[in-house]
Amino acid sequence: MKHFVQLSQIPRSPDYDYCVIGGGPAGLIAAHELSRRGETLLLEAGAASPESSYSELRAATTDSVLVSDHGVHPANPWTLRGPGGGMERYAGILVRYRAQDFDRSAAFAHASADPRWPIGYEDLRPYYDEVERRFGIARTTGLDPTEPPSCAPLLPPHPPSARAELINEAFDELGIGHFPTPLGVNSRPFARRPACTRCGPCNETLCRTGAKASVLPLVLGSGSEHRLRLAHAVTAEALRVDPSGRVSAVECLDTVRGRHATIRARHFVIAAGALNSCALLLRSTSRLHPHGLANGNDQVGRGIQFKLTGYADVRAPASAQLRESPTLFSTTATTDFYHRLPGGGCGGFLYEASASDRPDTIRLHFVVSETPMAENSVAPAPSSADGPNVVIRHRTHRSDLRRLRSLRSIAVDTLARIGRGVRAQEEFNATGMAHLAGGCRAGTDPRTSVVGPEGRLHQCDNVYVADSAYFPYAAAANPTMTVIANALRISRQLAQHS
Ligand SMILES: Cc1cc2nc3c(=O)[nH]c(=O)nc-3n(C[C@H](O)[C@H](O)[C@H](O)COP(=O)(O)OP(=O)(O)OC[C@H]3O[C@@H](n4cnc5c(N)ncnc54)[C@H](O)[C@@H]3O)c2cc1C
Repeated sequence: MKHFVQLSQIPRSPDYDYCVIGGGPAGLIAAHELSRRGETLLLEAGAASPESSYSELRAATTDSVLVSDHGVHPANPWTLRGPGGGMERYAGILVRYRAQDFDRSAAFAHASADPRWPIGYEDLRPYYDEVERRFGIARTTGLDPTEPPSCAPLLPPHPPSARAELINEAFDELGIGHFPTPLGVNSRPFARRPACTRCGPCNETLCRTGAKASVLPLVLGSGSEHRLRLAHAVTAEALRVDPSGRVSAVECLDTVRGRHATIRARHFVIAAGALNSCALLLRSTSRLHPHGLANGNDQVGRGIQFKLTGYADVRAPASAQLRESPTLFSTTATTDFYHRLPGGGCGGFLYEASASDRPDTIRLHFVVSETPMAENSVAPAPSSADGPNVVIRHRTHRSDLRRLRSLRSIAVDTLARIGRGVRAQEEFNATGMAHLAGGCRAGTDPRTSVVGPEGRLHQCDNVYVADSAYFPYAAAANPTMTVIANALRISRQLAQHS
């Protein structure tokens, strides 16, 4: 059994083969893979805090500012800080991107950053299948019209909640197809994890039973063939370039002892969450890289994307409340409008989203992707002890708002079949949200992208970006399945070629 320990308990020499920065799902799966091949050290900024509430954890990371057309606001460039990253409190929705998500250039001809991925669905498919085999995903097949080819489902889907049954009836009346939301939550025991007891919506909470899939337990339970050390409460501050142009070390702050330390390694993998990964590269200035590591083309930090989202809700009829004990977060979804909305434009994902604090409510989450815009960017704030961590500059494209409202009206029409007084609210995600992407966009042209298809920086050949900073287009589907599959692909290729 491996554990996260303080940096002072970690040997510094000889040099590590691989140093991974960030202990979310991307960093953990990458470190796990690389440690089969060589001595690996993972650095995670946060410390474990199982007793903290989600709002306390989020409040602890509101350390940045957003500059937008709406003025200057406090912002949050983290999903969460701590071993396991955002996945420790995720809602459990594990879906693959659709084959079309890897090239949406026709739908986003107005984008000022290229939405095309340098790889396609088929490149990622074996890794998606492998992640599914390791975690098990409770899902069905044949009902989702946008479903990409995949391995056969390993676990049966969860039955619909009483709320989802009402949503499904409304979908049926409107002629909208639906399917059980694919969940990384065991519907029967699988991979040494028990079946879910439906103790409550998983969103924002730690799983009490271990039924919810996460990368952290997989890594903590890995065997002696993995040469892996895990350090928490240590923040990577800058990468240091040697005269040959390679990165030789990372400078970091041990936040327990308040001491700076230097860690040396042969290869570095950055997985600090999309926005913090960009900030780390931009803080890594040197004679060879005066504007930040690999930023000679002024692309690092550009093209960041959030999702545009909102919730529509209606009061649940008494009958549904009566039958309902705590439920899973989501048990029904539709992708009928994923590729195209009725009024035109690339569509989005619509699914049940039960809230633990609103048991009397039926709620839908509507989600569309954002147009990739080079002007939407993140940069480290000018340093000051109490000042912000990073500055986000962001503007929502008008067409994205139209697309969001088009999907919102479908959500509202659906819930209006269930009850009166439907309310719909759009979220202001530009201040930061849990789905972060872009900023070290992948591409084959070193003039317009930061990393190549294999995740390696164009301008520094021993540093890789393994998290969603890689994503040229963030898609509307929930990202974590793609984050893990792509990090697995990048780290396996690195292990094979180093
Ligand atoms: C409440 C909630 C619900 C969610 N539900 C879903 C869902 O149902 N489905 C889905 O697909 N996704 C969901 N997500 C999103 C999901 O959590 C993210 O997609 C995923 O965590 C991204 O993984 P990552 O490894 O790229 O980044 P992160 O999880 O953000 O991990 C990055 C890690 O790097 C660390 N770090 C940052 N900077 C530094 C530094 N300088 N030095 C060292 N370490 C650093 C951070 O502390 C963090 O632990 C949800 C997220 C939240 C918070």
